[in-house]
Amino acid sequence: MNDVISRGHEAVNPTAFSRRGFLARTSYFGALYATARLFPMSALAGELAGDSRVSQTPIVDKGFASVRKIGEGLYATISDPSKGYQTICNGGFLVGKDSALMIEGFGSAAGAAFQMDALRMVSQVPVKGALDTHYHFDHSMGNGFYSGNGIPLWAHANTAKRIVETYGAMQGVDKAVALGPLEKTVKDSKTELARKHREENLAMVTVVFNIANATVLALPNHPIDPAKLPMKMDLGGLTAVIESYPGHSGTDIVVRVPEQNVVYTGDLLFSGLYPVCLDAQSTVSGWRQTLKTFASWDKDTVFVPGHGSVCGQEGVALFRALFDDIEEQAQKMHKAGVPAAEAADLYVVPEKYKNIGIFVWDFSITPTITKLYAEWGAK
Ligand SMILES: [Zn+2]
Repeated sequence: MNDVISRGHEAVNPTAFSRRGFLARTSYFGALYATARLFPMSALAGELAGDSRVSQTPIVDKGFASVRKIGEGLYATISDPSKGYQTICNGGFLVGKDSALMIEGFGSAAGAAFQMDALRMVSQVPVKGALDTHYHFDHSMGNGFYSGNGIPLWAHANTAKRIVETYGAMQGVDKAVALGPLEKTVKDSKTELARKHREENLAMVTVVFNIANATVLALPNHPIDPAKLPMKMDLGGLTAVIESYPGHSGTDIVVRVPEQNVVYTGDLLFSGLYPVCLDAQSTVSGWRQTLKTFASWDKDTVFVPGHGSVCGQEGVALFRALFDDIEEQAQKMHKAGVPAAEAADLYVVPEKYKNIGIFVWDFSITPTITKLYAEWGAK
């Protein structure tokens, strides 16, 4: 075993992408799936089984992700992180007569390369560009593949800045200093449940810290000004419409193909997972407004969510219901005089949602509840 891998979580490989570096990085994820309640994902929600637009058979399936046709010139890349961490998030590509658009920078350059290989299985048209739906690590740490291949990279105007502020700021920082405050939250836990949630949080932030330190960051060089949206991108007989909506990260972009009722939502929609509201710019009210908009779109819309199975409107309805349930329970606790910090640990997953994944409690339930309390002007 080489030294980088054997040092496990302590290993930070400073080199650019390499197989050795990638193996070292994947070892960091041991903690991720020991803590995160991510289940093996099916690529398609059951409701889409009879949809003639959506191919039941993928064009390629590497376990960690599969790619399938979901429309004319439209493909979805669906990740199953229980089988590997190259892509982590979903994505896809749009192929017109003249050019193609790649969606997502994924969790690693290997993930972006995998998607490019899939594109080349179906088309040789030039790639007009790639697009990060937002700045989060699992959607942007593979950007180096695009910059290394001279592919223009589009994203919300604030994405580059937030990659630098968030992940650049972790680079070269002493790990003990960076993670000390979170270790303290574990030590200070007053209940077993609180301790479990803080430990999961520490493990996940450690994963992100290690990835940030093992990645040569690459930034989008085609900023999208949200004030100038919607923006149309003509790929030759196929038009992508780029829009921005609030909710998940403050940098969220969606790619729609209205002519075919297909939408790539990024993390504004998770399918079969509770929302991740951790971001400082995530807003519960804004996000729920966005979901209302999604629900108003055609009843036959195919949604490619940021994580989870490709779904139809039933996926949007379920996701809205999860927000409703968190709010309902939080309201009751608020009325009973439970402060936000305590309420955050006390949400109970109802029996009917027992198969819904929670990425990490403190990325998901905790911030949703504390943000709801803040929106009510409560503490
Ligand atoms: Zn995200």
